[in-house]
Parts: sequence; structure tokens; C-alpha cells
Amino acid sequence: MTQNADCKPCPFCDYHKPMIVTYEENKYRPRREYAVLCEYNPGKGCGAEGPHHVYLADTVDAWNKRASMNDVELFRRYREITSYERNSDD
Ligand SMILES: [Zn+2]
Repeated sequence: MTQNADCKPCPFCDYHKPMIVTYEENKYRPRREYAVLCEYNPGKGCGAEGPHHVYLADTVDAWNKRASMNDVELFRRYREITSYERNSDD
């Protein structure tokens, strides 16, 4: 969740510091997945999230190529993601 050096700026809002989020394995998700997130922050990021991938390199690659624009989930906010993580283990 700290690596972001290889991510290009957000294609939607041009925020230059998108972050990596990790979705831990649970009963709905057989393997850990990564996604690049433009953290929602007024005046900075827009909340756009890139496609999920099992491998970090694929995640960054997909974001950087803007390869799967249809997969990008717009405006998913960081707070919603963290609350989902908290509630997804039961
Ligand atoms: Zn953005």
C-alpha cells in the first residue's frame, strides 16, 4: 500500500500520486488482489480505481497503459474501501 513510484498520474484527474491498495483474500476473493487507487481527496485525487490483478506488476501495468478503461471503477472512495475490508471477513 506504500508503493506508488511506478504509477503514472491518474488518467481522469491527473493527480500524480495514485496509491496501491491491497484486497486481502477472503471467502469472496480466493486470492489477494491489488489495485491502483487515486485516493479521493478534494483538490487532489478523484477516487478512480484501476482494474484488480493478482500480481502487483500487472496492476501497475494496467493502470499505466490505461488498458482496460471499462474496468475502471470511478469514484470508489477510500473510506468505502476500508469499511468494506473491515466488514468482509464475516
Ligand atoms: Zn484521479
